[in-house]
Amino acid sequence: MRRAVFPGSFDPITNGHYDIIKRALPLFDEIIVAIGVNSDKKYMFSLEERKRFIEETFRNEPKIKVATYEGLTTEFCFQVDAKFILRGLRNPADFEFEKAIAHTNRFLTKLETVFLLTAASTSFISSSIVRDVIRNKGDYTRLVPQPVRI
Ligand code: ADP
Repeated sequence: MRRAVFPGSFDPITNGHYDIIKRALPLFDEIIVAIGVNSDKKYMFSLEERKRFIEETFRNEPKIKVATYEGLTTEFCFQVDAKFILRGLRNPADFEFEKAIAHTNRFLTKLETVFLLTAASTSFISSSIVRDVIRNKGDYTRLVPQPVRI
């Protein structure tokens, strides 16, 4: 079973995440969208809300599972028997950041990180920009999947 973990905060899931997950589907038998819980971080949406947004977005896609985890992503991958980590790349800053993490994970474990380049149409979207638009009462509906349009 070719299983990948797509880790992130998903506060909230955006059309950028959606694009990466959909395009990764043909590559894997199962993708676990894994919401990392960091008790030091303040979130706009609760863990339950973030999980529900993702579950509803992919309710017709049996190959996609949603989970939450605490601690190291690599440890979670072992627990669920995933050999791959999926990440999206938007720009050189993402690349530099991801490179260090992927090297570390590969150094410490045998996990491979699979990167997909964002679609040009969603490359500018980030959860933090979406949160900013929501906070300032802007129209964020075209930046996120339907279940997030609250
Ligand atoms: P984190 O808290 O680790 O930044 P995010 O939930 O923001 O997690 O992102 C999870 C993954 O989705 C990361 O690999 C990130 O690069 C990717 N991602 C976020 N936004 C986009 C986008 N617009 N296009 C492609 N990938 C994206």
